[in-house]
Amino acid sequence: MNRILIAEDEAPIANLVKTALSDAGYACVWAADGNAAADLLETTPFDLVLLDIMLPKANGYEVLDYCKALDVPVIFLTAKGSVEDRVYGLHLGAEDYITKPFELMELLARVETVLRRCGKTGRILSLPPDIEIDTASRKVTRNGVPVALTAKEYDLLLLFVQNKNIALYRDRIYERVWGEEYLGDSRTVDLHIQRMRKKLGLEDRLVAVYKIGYRLEV
Ligand code: CA
Repeated sequence: MNRILIAEDEAPIANLVKTALSDAGYACVWAADGNAAADLLETTPFDLVLLDIMLPKANGYEVLDYCKALDVPVIFLTAKGSVEDRVYGLHLGAEDYITKPFELMELLARVETVLRRCGKTGRILSLPPDIEIDTASRKVTRNGVPVALTAKEYDLLLLFVQNKNIALYRDRIYERVWGEEYLGDSRTVDLHIQRMRKKLGLEDRLVAVYKIGYRLEV
């Protein structure tokens, strides 16, 4: 789950943004002034900051310095909408700039784009309600508890999670995970899928498809 800091002194706007982003699956923290934002940045890892420019105590340009030092991408969120301000903000190193008032759908789209561009998405894949996969460390948890998978079991899980609700042919599964041509021996694939499925409690969701292979149902 991506963590987003909302630095905004107007509570109604902050609440609106926080609710929309939380509903979209982000973990959000609100800072009501520039000092609080800087303090949070120094103590908590964030994937993105939505940063108002006109903030009490320390303004958005000052907070941007902290973000840059920590390599956290920033989207400016501000009433200052003139072309000069926009160019200035981007020149200072912000990833994007959204002018108030804005549509929440536009905000969500920009957030997603920046996270993707900065390589912050896709690290944690989830298979609700219980399974999470950290693709950077190749660690898998079920209800927060680590599950020890072999390398092949992990690759199989990843393949299915990236192809939810699609029936995957045994030959394709084998070629993707084992990196060799499939010669018709289905036991290897079946054995590894059965073991992986059992370890993760996926017996009801990762189902055999007659004469084809398997499908992860979500
Ligand atoms: Ca403000």
